[in-house]
Amino acid sequence: MIMVRHIENGTVIDHIEAGRALQVLRIIGGPNDSTVVVAMNVPSTKYRRKDILKMENVYVDEKKLDLISIIAPKATINLIKDGKVVEKRRVELPPEVTGILKCLNPTCITNKEREPVTSKFKVERNPLRLICEYCNKEFEASTLLKELSL
Ligand code: ZN
Repeated sequence: MIMVRHIENGTVIDHIEAGRALQVLRIIGGPNDSTVVVAMNVPSTKYRRKDILKMENVYVDEKKLDLISIIAPKATINLIKDGKVVEKRRVELPPEVTGILKCLNPTCITNKEREPVTSKFKVERNPLRLICEYCNKEFEASTLLKELSL
């Protein structure tokens, strides 16, 4: 096992699909002034290779966890307090995602400047795709996530 910095308080996201840790970090919003350890391509018994994120004093809100589930559906979230794991859970694909993501259809009502509407996407599985509730356009999750500017 690779030795990475131990954190006292914060969040550890484990079992991220190899190569996607930086995308997850982007959703969370970058390190700001907290310590972030990114471990990529860590050998894993379960999934061969995985990425791990350790973030000191960072707690991820539900909305962002929904987005994380879209790019890292096998991720586990560990909340650390005083050096101990106090909560451990998996991310779950939500039925829909509101806000944060932007519809890429330029004529969609969510992109009209005069009456801004919060974006809303239905989440469809197998294959994973997102459908805008307003214009019904379908997007691959990765396409929408690329546009994220957090
Ligand atoms: Zn739309």
